[in-house]
Parts: sequence; C-alpha cells; structure tokens
Amino acid sequence: MLKIDGKETAMELRTELKKEVSSLKSKYNKVPGLTVILVGEDPASKIYVKNKEKFAKEIGMNSEALRYPVDLEEKVLLNKIDELNKDDKVSGILVQLPLPKHIDKRKVIEAIDHKKDVDGFHPMNVGNLSSGYDSSIPCTPLGCSLLLKKVEKNLSGKHAVVIGRSNLNGKPMTQLLLKENCTVTITHSKTKDLKEECLRADIIIAAVGIPELVKGDWVKKGAIVIDVGINKTEKGIVGDVAFDEVSKVAKALTPVPGGVGPMTIACLLKNTVECFKKAQK
Ligand code: NAD
Repeated sequence: MLKIDGKETAMELRTELKKEVSSLKSKYNKVPGLTVILVGEDPASKIYVKNKEKFAKEIGMNSEALRYPVDLEEKVLLNKIDELNKDDKVSGILVQLPLPKHIDKRKVIEAIDHKKDVDGFHPMNVGNLSSGYDSSIPCTPLGCSLLLKKVEKNLSGKHAVVIGRSNLNGKPMTQLLLKENCTVTITHSKTKDLKEECLRADIIIAAVGIPELVKGDWVKKGAIVIDVGINKTEKGIVGDVAFDEVSKVAKALTPVPGGVGPMTIACLLKNTVECFKKAQK
C-alpha cells in the first residue's frame, strides 16, 4: 500500500511556487500578495492564519494577517474588504472561517472580489467551476486532486465516491472529479447504505468529520482513499478513515496528519499566484 505523502508533495509544490514567484518578480517587478483576515480568538483558526502567513512569506510573496477582536462590526469588515479589493498590491484575500455569529458569512464571501477570492467560495467561482470554466478552486479539494494525480495520472472512467456534500469540500471535489471524467457518487448523512456505496468505489474521498467512519470492509481491494477528516480524539488527531484497517486493502491512502492538511495551505499559495498572474493580463 502506498502511503500518500502530503507533506512532501506540499513541499514540492511550495518549491515550484517559490521559483515561479521569483520569475514573476523579475518579469513584473512585483510579487503576489496575500491578505488573511482573522476575526476572534478561535485557537485552530489562529494556528491556520499564522501558518498561511508564514508559508506565503517563505515562498517570497507579500503576506499580511489582519487580526480583529471577536466583536468586530460586520460593516467594518466589509469596508476593509472593499479597501483590499481596490488595492493593487493585494492579489488574494482570505477571510478565515468560521466567523463570529453576528457576522453574515455569505455577505462577507460575496464582498470579496471574485478575482481575489483565493478560497474559491465566491458564487462566481463556484458557478464557473461547475460550468467547467476557469475559476479559483477551493484549496482542500484542489489539494486532494493533486494527491490523487500523484497515484493515478488518468482518472477517466473511475468510479469515485465522495462522502460529504459541504460547499467547502464535498461539492467542489465532485466537480473536480467530473472534470477528470470520473463517474461520481456524492453521499451524505442521509445516504441509505454508505458501506455499499463505498464498496463500489475505485476512489473514496472522505470529508465528513466522523473519526474512522470508513472501515476496512467498506473498501474495495485496490481502491485509492483520500482522507480529508481532521478529528480530535482521545488518541490524538485522526481522520475519517480507519487507517490501519483500510491500509490492508487500499492501493493508496493518505495519512492524517500529513496527508491532505499540508496540501491545503500549499494550494492557497498556488491560488494566490494564479490570481496575481490573471491580474497582470
Ligand atoms: P461539514 O460538517 O460542513 O460537512 C460534513 C458532511 O458530512 C455533510 O455534508 C454531511 O452530510 C456529511 N455527513 C455527516 N455525517 C455523515 C454520515 N454518517 N455519513 C455520511 N456523510 C455524513 O464538514 P467539512 O467542512 O466538509 O469538513 C469535513 C472534515 O474535513 C472535518 O473533519 C474537517 O475538520 C475536515 N477538513 C479538513 C481540511 C484539511 O485541510 N485537511 C480542510 C477542511 C476541513
């Protein structure tokens, strides 16, 4: 069984991006810029934002994190986004989710210029992705598809089962797999027999948030399994896939941690570079 190394793949991607940023600097005399906005004190979000800022700087991009208190007024945030939309030095804007309850997440996502929407959550990007047009692609599904491509270059005709239908993961993942000519089954909490669905899959993408939901006897021999889940348990961080059991039947499997997670930030940097390049045209 191949343990798909997300850490190493993310490092390779960052190295490529670093070279690209350097050649963009020579060509345009400026570099891509990423602004990340954090509202509140959510401990996990604080770590994510710190890492995003750090990795962006490491590859030579401009990067700033704007940190606001939890009681920030919605209109102040919207005004700030408007200012960043107009700022040529800013190629990508990301508002770290979740937001405090008094702030309307939808309004905030829609306020970001879709050309600077490095998360790929703006309805314009969602629509473009599902229409097969050029768009920003949500970072985690993009990371999953790059990992899949490491194992299997041609996914055409494969049967993929996506577990979870969130806007963040399941739905965009489905679109990416369709683009690769997979036959896709999207499953969710109301799916009648999830085990049965999984057993038919050549590819399983688990993006649920239930520790070790996918068991060894749910997986067809030789399937590729991508585990998006990050679940805190008594035995530490685990994914949505029972790693030990599934590794006995799968052809390839991502570990948690060290699988999809590192790819998410690397793909955010990739999206920022793409937004910068499009802005120069
Ligand atoms: P979400 O809660 O928005 O969506 C979960 C989905 O799972 C829903 O569509 C729901 O219908 C489905 N679901 C729930 N119970 C189910 C069941 N018993 N059987 C089948 N489907 C079921 O979650 P999300 O934001 O998509 O995140 C999913 C997981 O991915 C979480 O563990 C999250 O922490 C993790 N995550 C990881 C990364 C990363 O970088 N690796 C990024 C984002 C999210």
